[in-house]
Amino acid sequence: MFDKVLIANRGEIALRIHRACREMGIRTVAVHSTADEDAMHVRLADEAVCIGPPQARQSYLNIPAILSAATITGAEAIHPGYGFLSENADFASMVEEHGLTFIGPSPEHIRMMGDKITAKNAAKAAGLPVVPGSEGALESLEDARRNAEEIGYPVLLKATAGGGGKGMKVARDASEIEEAWRLARSEAGSAFGNADLYMEKYLGKPRHIEIQILADNHGEVVHLGERDCSLQRRHQKVLEEAPSPALNSVMRESIGSIATAAMKKIGYRNAGTIEFLYEDGKFYFIEMNTRLQVEHPITEMITGLDIVREQVRIAAGAPLGYTQEDVRFSGHAIECRVNAEHPETFVPSPGKVGIYHAPGGLGVRVDSALYTGYRVPPNYDSMIAKLIVHGTSRNECLMRLRRALGEFVVEGMNTTLPLHQRLIAEPDFVNGDYDIHWLEHFVHRQD
Ligand code: ADP
Repeated sequence: MFDKVLIANRGEIALRIHRACREMGIRTVAVHSTADEDAMHVRLADEAVCIGPPQARQSYLNIPAILSAATITGAEAIHPGYGFLSENADFASMVEEHGLTFIGPSPEHIRMMGDKITAKNAAKAAGLPVVPGSEGALESLEDARRNAEEIGYPVLLKATAGGGGKGMKVARDASEIEEAWRLARSEAGSAFGNADLYMEKYLGKPRHIEIQILADNHGEVVHLGERDCSLQRRHQKVLEEAPSPALNSVMRESIGSIATAAMKKIGYRNAGTIEFLYEDGKFYFIEMNTRLQVEHPITEMITGLDIVREQVRIAAGAPLGYTQEDVRFSGHAIECRVNAEHPETFVPSPGKVGIYHAPGGLGVRVDSALYTGYRVPPNYDSMIAKLIVHGTSRNECLMRLRRALGEFVVEGMNTTLPLHQRLIAEPDFVNGDYDIHWLEHFVHRQD
């Protein structure tokens, strides 16, 4: 096992990784920008190294600075968290070239899944069902038209380099294709420096259901069930639950075993998530995230497994030590992402935390790096906390979530806590009756 791990991230996820390492008796090295000198992850880690100014490009994305920090502190492995360098295949190879261990999949798998088209082809070849769409990148507007006629409107244009829901435009009929093509290309070009697009059938009322995978270096692969992440705003997840209200155990086992078989086939290792859209009883692969995900705690709550610990063990070469039959699902879990944003306009609201009180009690977990007096820097993502609640049933989980949200106090800035309170009181949500478009309508509804 490693003696020392460097955590190449910040905020709640840096803390989350630190906690897993500490429990395993592993010392931690935090890296931070000058904006994060007082951050909780810096305070709690055994050692901390400043790697640059506030701009992420010069600090949390600064590969030479991070590798030097690992070298001078004698860290043996690097955990990238999510975001930042977590899906950068070049970074993963450089870590290995420096004689360090990257806590994640191989650079080849990161690369394979990082491009939407190679990912989709690999998924298809590994036996995963995919959304009907263009063979590869579209060559021209004419090519887009031809494909749309073949696939049938409505269609979705997506960036091959996509991420974070950017560079995605729907064309409902032939009259919309030109505009969608132009907008998607320009958005993809400015977001990713790559304007290439591909096309998919646009699904009208799907749910977003993803399967968590763990794979060791010895050929064992298990799935930890699904997460339903259909509640999204601008393609960004807002609230997630596990298990999905839309699946039963037979469907879970079926898609879970298809997913594990696919991962065995491609030789994947470490943690990963296969994302599907689910409509009319069918699953369609959309992408694979080759990293730890924001919403991983709900899976931990229903399986009792510490996914970060498993990642570290796998990276150190340890066998999983259990098989699919040993994975047990218990109860229901929901995660609310709390952002420092206005709950109606979503305008970011960084600032100094006044009174801070996190809820507690049985089945309540708060993953956050906030504390009273902490100044949330304006330079990074606006998520400031994740409230994760577990109950023996979905109903108990909802009652507990309502109670916990009522206790949560974050003064000094706007937060999306009121949005969550409003959301969980909605009959459609209570009934589990929602798709990926539901939240967008709910947010814009005047009542
Ligand atoms: P990104 O990597 O940018 O997040 P994804 O391919 O994961 O892109 O898609 C993000 C979200 O966009 C999905 O969760 C879903 O809400 C929506 N989406 C993606 N593909 C389709 C599709 N073919 N039809 C309808 N909605 C889609």
